[in-house]
Amino acid sequence: MTQHSVPSSKLPQTGTSIFTVMSQMAAECGAINLSQGFPDFPVDPALIDLAAKYMKEGHNQYAPMAGLSALREAIAEKTRRLHGRTYNPETEVTVTAGATQAIFTAITTLVKEEDEVLIFSPAYDCYAPPVLLCGGKPVFAELRAPDFCPDWDEVKRRVNRKTKLIIINTPHNPSGTVWTEDDMRELEKIVVSTGAFVLSDEVYEHIVFDGAEHHSAARFEALAAHSVITASFGKTFHATGWKMGYAIAPEALMREFRKVHQYLVFCVNHPLQRALADYLADEKNYLNVSPMYEARRDYFIKALEGSRFKVVPAQGTYFQLLNYSEISKKSEVKFAEELTRKHGVASIPVSVFYPQPQEQRILRFCFAKHPDTLASAAEKLKAL
Ligand code: PMP
Ligand code: GLN
Repeated sequence: MTQHSVPSSKLPQTGTSIFTVMSQMAAECGAINLSQGFPDFPVDPALIDLAAKYMKEGHNQYAPMAGLSALREAIAEKTRRLHGRTYNPETEVTVTAGATQAIFTAITTLVKEEDEVLIFSPAYDCYAPPVLLCGGKPVFAELRAPDFCPDWDEVKRRVNRKTKLIIINTPHNPSGTVWTEDDMRELEKIVVSTGAFVLSDEVYEHIVFDGAEHHSAARFEALAAHSVITASFGKTFHATGWKMGYAIAPEALMREFRKVHQYLVFCVNHPLQRALADYLADEKNYLNVSPMYEARRDYFIKALEGSRFKVVPAQGTYFQLLNYSEISKKSEVKFAEELTRKHGVASIPVSVFYPQPQEQRILRFCFAKHPDTLASAAEKLKAL
């Protein structure tokens, strides 16, 4: 028998992502899947038609390395209109294979051995692993229930000369919190005094509720000068399977980013870039996303009225946290499993997004779903 050699793991603490685990459990048990964040309703047929048109017209070979000019121009124009900052599409915008690739590229570009990277936990799962692969050290600042607001004194205590990068995410997955202008200014002061870079993960930029605003890092002069901003067309246009996104950053930073990008992926899906460039020309296509999701959030919360789950309405993203402390004393992981297997609704335990599991009796539910799906899930949750 052939003896296979086993590599020594570069990520010994990393297992299979919670999104895979919970989606598989939901499929096995036939549970309603409100765990992994993906919409269950279709992409706008107009966008599908554009994609099909460009494939049929033969735009099926490599796109330029940094992305199609037309799409980079549309991204720069959207950023200028919404946030008042002009990025040069030639040198400061790069189209990526989803935000995940943009995040991996940005971290790999910036982090060297021994560098510290400040991450706010609960944190989306793709930040720490690339830091570790680069020999860097993730340092965590905690956001706590129920409001998940940053504690700036704690942040200041965690930042030092070794802090190369601060990773932020607003609107925030999994809490649904939206950072205020004051939060961004606090961050800006820290960045100015330490010279740290910022990775501002803004994938939910177009999903903000109750008249609140998304305060992009692009809005703040000194912050923008230190930041790579990452975004996702998958989130904005409910096409998570397309894995299309982008990064924007000042020229010197973007020059280094592209050195990594070109060997990680070189370029991304060409016909979809053409389709997205056309589709971005009509601002309604992204400005209407917040009200559409706000209606779904409200529908889900209304359908849960009378349940023993406690709700603090999400300010943004398509995730709603529900607190089950009146229902069970079990850990979040155990209760999420029980809810999936016995009660037919899959969710995500928030505890797994902390470096050391925190038990706050909170689960995350994705409401990017058809109202019938939300109504059936709410019925099951109300029975508890
Ligand atoms: N950041 C956050 C906070 C996310 O929730 C996601 C979800 N997919 C991503 C990044 C990755 O986006 P994409 O699917 O475009 O890679
Ligand atoms: N961003 C999605 C979520 O938070 C999951 C994406 C993935 O499965 N990696 O649910």
